[in-house]
Amino acid sequence: MLPLTDTYQRKFYYLRLSITDVCNFRCTYCLPNGYQRNKDRASFLSVNELERVAKAFGQLGTTKIRLTGGEPSMRRDFSDIIAAIHQQPTIKQIAMTTNGYRLAKEASHWRAAGLGAVNVSLDSLDARQFHQITGQNKFSDVMAGIDACLEAGFPVVKINVVLMKHITQQLAAFLAWIKHRPLQLRFIELMETGEGSDYFAQHHLSGENLRRQLLQQGWQLAQREPDAGPAQIFTHPDYQGQIGLIMPYDKNFCDSCNRLRVSAVGKLHLCLFGEQGIELRDLLQSEAQQASLQARIQSSLVQKKQTHFLHQGITGMASSLSYIGG
Ligand code: SAM
Ligand code: SF4
Repeated sequence: MLPLTDTYQRKFYYLRLSITDVCNFRCTYCLPNGYQRNKDRASFLSVNELERVAKAFGQLGTTKIRLTGGEPSMRRDFSDIIAAIHQQPTIKQIAMTTNGYRLAKEASHWRAAGLGAVNVSLDSLDARQFHQITGQNKFSDVMAGIDACLEAGFPVVKINVVLMKHITQQLAAFLAWIKHRPLQLRFIELMETGEGSDYFAQHHLSGENLRRQLLQQGWQLAQREPDAGPAQIFTHPDYQGQIGLIMPYDKNFCDSCNRLRVSAVGKLHLCLFGEQGIELRDLLQSEAQQASLQARIQSSLVQKKQTHFLHQGITGMASSLSYIGG
C-alpha cells in the first residue's frame, strides 16, 4: 500500500484523531478558563463515523492512529472506540494522549481493548505546582495512572512535558524519575495559539538550552528511524528512560512531518496550525462512501504547505490545541 504523500514527498503513516473537544482540566497554556460549551457546535463523531475514518486512512497506508482531544477519556464510549479501530487490519498501533485522570482505573481495560501506547501529560513533579498548572488537584491520581500503564504492560509509555521556565528547576528531578523507569519524557516547546499569545510571550523557552545541557550530561542523540516524526530522541547508558525533544520553532521541524489530523467534528487538518479544515463528515455516513472519502483525503494533500508560519506569529485557526488535538 502506497502511503499518502504530499507535494514535498513527505509520507503520512500517522493520523491524530481527535474524538472530543471537552476537557476537565484547565491547563494554563491550553484552556486557562476551562472548557466552554458551545451549543452551536456539531456533535462529535460517533463510533461508526470514527471507524470509517480509520478504515479510509488505513486503506491509504496509515498504520498508526493517536486518539486525542480535548481529553479523549471523557468519552463514555472510549473503550468501544479503541475496539472499533482495533478491528482495522492495517492499523498496527493505536495510541492515546491523555491528562491521565482515568488511567489508574482504566489502563488495563483499554490495553485489553487494543490500545498499544499512551502519552500522559505531566508538567510538574511537584503536586502543588501540578495543581496550579492544570487547575486539578490530581497529581497522585495521574502518577498512579502512569504506574498502572507500566503494570498493564504497555510497550510504549511517554510523558509529555510542556517546556516552560519552571522546568529548568525540575530537570534533575525529572531525570532521576526516569533513571529506573522505562518512560520517554517528551519535552515539547510551548507553541503559540490564537488564545495564548500573551502566555506564549511570557513562558516560551527554547529547547536549545535543554539540548545543550543533555549533551553535556552524557545524553546522546539517537539515530533517526526513517519514518520517525519531528522529535529528537536522546538516550543515556545509565538511564532506563529516554528523552524526546520537540522543537516546533526549529528551522527544519516540518521536513519530517509524518502526520495528518482529523478533528472531533470530522474535519481534515493538514497542519496543526492550518486554516479551516476540509470537511469529511458528509462522506462518513455509510460504507458505500468509502471510495469517495478516500479520494477526497488523497486529493486534499496537494494543499499541504511546506511549513507552518509560527515564526511570523501566524497560528492558524487553532485558538487552543484542545480544539484539533495537540
Ligand atoms: N488532554 C490530553 C492531554 O493533555 O494529554 C490530550 C490533548 S492535549 C491538547 C495534547 C498535548 O498538547 C498535551 O501534552 C499538552 O500538554 C499539549 N499542549 C497543549 N497546548 C499546548 C501548547 N500551547 N504548546 C505545546 N503543547 C501544548
Ligand atoms: Fe485539557 Fe489536555 Fe488542554 Fe490540559 S492540555 S487543558 S488536559 S486538553
